[in-house]
Amino acid sequence: MVTETQTGPSAAPARTEDPFIICENLVKIYKVADLEAVALQGLDLQVAKGELLAIIGNSGSGKTTLMNILGGLDRPSAGRVIVGGRDLLKMSELQLVQYKRDSVGFVWQQTSRNLIPYLTALENVELPTVIAGRAGRKSRAWAEEMLTAVGLGKRMRHKLSELSGGEQQRVAIAIGMANNPPLLLADEPTGSVDNRTAQTIFDIFHQVRNTYGTTIIIVTHDRKVMSKVDRVVAIRDGKTSTEMVRRIAFNLADFAEGNITLGETHDEYVVLDAAGRLQIPREYLERLGIKGKVLVDMVDGEIVIRPVPDVGTPLPNGSGSTSDRPRPGPSGPAPSGPGQSEKGR
Ligand code: ADP
Ligand code: MG
Repeated sequence: MVTETQTGPSAAPARTEDPFIICENLVKIYKVADLEAVALQGLDLQVAKGELLAIIGNSGSGKTTLMNILGGLDRPSAGRVIVGGRDLLKMSELQLVQYKRDSVGFVWQQTSRNLIPYLTALENVELPTVIAGRAGRKSRAWAEEMLTAVGLGKRMRHKLSELSGGEQQRVAIAIGMANNPPLLLADEPTGSVDNRTAQTIFDIFHQVRNTYGTTIIIVTHDRKVMSKVDRVVAIRDGKTSTEMVRRIAFNLADFAEGNITLGETHDEYVVLDAAGRLQIPREYLERLGIKGKVLVDMVDGEIVIRPVPDVGTPLPNGSGSTSDRPRPGPSGPAPSGPGQSEKGR
């Protein structure tokens, strides 16, 4: 078993500089006729330069909305987005066009959105540079390098229609990298390929990041992505809820036998936002029957959260001091009724 007591070197790149991406309190509200859909509700996220980050979350949790905002395809209703030191909300339309062209690459789930079937793989990868007015020998060489990087060095003159789904998705990664952007966004890039191909595609992202230092964000449903990325951020209801960081740890059991082995472990954190709010995992809330309110205590230097007891039930004694607990009124703590509970989550 890999213990978590001995901290080894972090698998994530060292964060010596400012985050490459800063999202602060991002809100996105879509208005459709008279209805409002809140896609992001105060999302906070920071991504280091050269980080390989995965975003997971249920359908409808706001992942694509976030990617569209980061890619300059959509503007948030409120909040702040900084990418590479530039405030996306302060950009003019023209600056935004340049940003989309030069500073960010996209890989979509549907290959049809990335690719033109009657062109060869190479022509597909060269297309963005042609559009950017930079076609030439240098861009041809770069396109060839990208196709080689994704493992298609020998198939670059094949028409797209002659390639398998997995190969087409690799071409899509090469296209995303065509202008050598500092940021590559991939929205469910493995959504329509089989499991083995998905693993290969994750490996390619890893390789691209290691070789070119590109900051890469991948949205995925695949929980197996964990071992391939530096960090996994979970989004729930338009907010970052938890994150998992990969870490190398010593295997203590082996150490006792005179061997030193390193293994991978994952630390899971609940994200605390700027206002001190956190999302308690839904499973815990359900298991303890918590709704609307909780008791929060400081016990022996730890914060303990527990359900509000039913009226008439004595308060739990806890193992430590309860002096920090806010005192309930004379009739005991108020039951959490529908009128008092916040929006149930
Ligand atoms: P995910 O990618 O995690 O599935 P999305 O970002 O696509 O989630 O959507 C988040 C929420 O915003 C959903 O409730 C969705 O219905 C809504 N939404 C997304 N795009 C639009 C849009 N263009 N117009 C109206 N509602 C939208
Ligand atoms: Mg989506």
